[in-house]
Amino acid sequence: MNFDEINRELLSFLDASPTAFHASANMQDRLERAGYTKLFEGESWRLQAGQGYYVTRNESALIAFFIPKRDFVGFQVMASHSDSPAFRVKTNAEIEVEKRYLKLNVEKYGGMLCAPWLDRPLSVAGRIVLRTPEGVRSQLVNVDRDLMMIPNLAIHMNRQVNDGYAYNAQKDLLPLLGEGGAETAKDALSRLIAGEAGVAAEDILDMDLFLYNRMKGTVYGMNGEFIAAPHLDDLQCAFSSLNGLLAATPKDSVAVHCVLDNEEVGSQTKQGAASTFLRDVLERINAGLGRDGEAYRKAVASSFMVSADNAHSFHPNYAEKADPTNRPYMNGGIVIKYSANQKYTTDAVSGAIFREICTRAGVPYQTFHNRSDMEGGSTLGNISTRQVSLNCVDIGLAQLAMHSCYETAGSRDTGYLIQAAREFFSSSIQAMGDGNYRLY
Ligand code: ZN
Repeated sequence: MNFDEINRELLSFLDASPTAFHASANMQDRLERAGYTKLFEGESWRLQAGQGYYVTRNESALIAFFIPKRDFVGFQVMASHSDSPAFRVKTNAEIEVEKRYLKLNVEKYGGMLCAPWLDRPLSVAGRIVLRTPEGVRSQLVNVDRDLMMIPNLAIHMNRQVNDGYAYNAQKDLLPLLGEGGAETAKDALSRLIAGEAGVAAEDILDMDLFLYNRMKGTVYGMNGEFIAAPHLDDLQCAFSSLNGLLAATPKDSVAVHCVLDNEEVGSQTKQGAASTFLRDVLERINAGLGRDGEAYRKAVASSFMVSADNAHSFHPNYAEKADPTNRPYMNGGIVIKYSANQKYTTDAVSGAIFREICTRAGVPYQTFHNRSDMEGGSTLGNISTRQVSLNCVDIGLAQLAMHSCYETAGSRDTGYLIQAAREFFSSSIQAMGDGNYRLY
């Protein structure tokens, strides 16, 4: 595996993906270049064996699939998410301060570490929705320059700040955009965005805009052991899943690369893991190949989902936060996550199947449990199985500083997940009786 090449590609994908919309657009470009055909949910699908297709919902969630030449036994799904915690720009965002400064009114999207967002160049990206003669259309925007900053309060004005500080999102976290005064304040942002997008400001009907960290991704460490970048959670998994799909040779199962949105806010949207998006697509693949409902249910029984969302690495400064016997390390391979209360879907069957896939792919794996006295987080798998109930394993790549706007991960783990995803998408998992599966 050429880890340097993989990291270069990963970091350029991350740099080009400041929002879920951009991540989706970049994945669509890759799929187009690989010969995949775009489908729309609002049109009829004519599917052919031996072909790849993709479909998006809300422009921010994407499902790509490749249909094998032979009649398929099931679906091999790898699910990740396109969104990350960020600040969303509110409507009427411009706030003038004493006619000297212009700042923006923003609110939190998801649960971020606040401190890393301060004192660093930020900009804004997302989508705008424009008036057209027929109705509306959307367009992605990214103001590709250092545009704003959330400045800290000087330590002289809060001597206790290093003893711990509770950030107030309405007071402490509003970015400085420019100088105020005269007529500049009102609609300053929509005029700026209109200029960037090359459209008339009065044609912009609404906007989904998010702040993002301008700092580029990098490889670091004494021997280049680590990578750091915005959005590693979860675009590192989405990138690996896509690369695994494009390198795979699906033989007896439909390979499904599924990237959902809104994981960071609970997945309860039309494009989130709780939605019907995945189920709708799988049912339409089944029907589009002339198969009936019985064939669909048989296929689901012989299907498998890898819910791929980044995992917590053991932290060198906080050994006490890790479980005593399950301590994943960066570059230690793919992390298989377990939780007795099933916040992670892994059970002995799905864990065993995934371990076998890693072994066949020749990549290392390790295990994660929360400490028994810590609750921990949740992710896509257990939400998604409400719509499509299939064997599921929760995995991720070990990282530090999860939900910072600049996260750290291992420089070899992306390559491991690509290899495992390639093996997974090339395989089939056929139900031979409950608890008994053929892996081939
Ligand atoms: Zn995540």
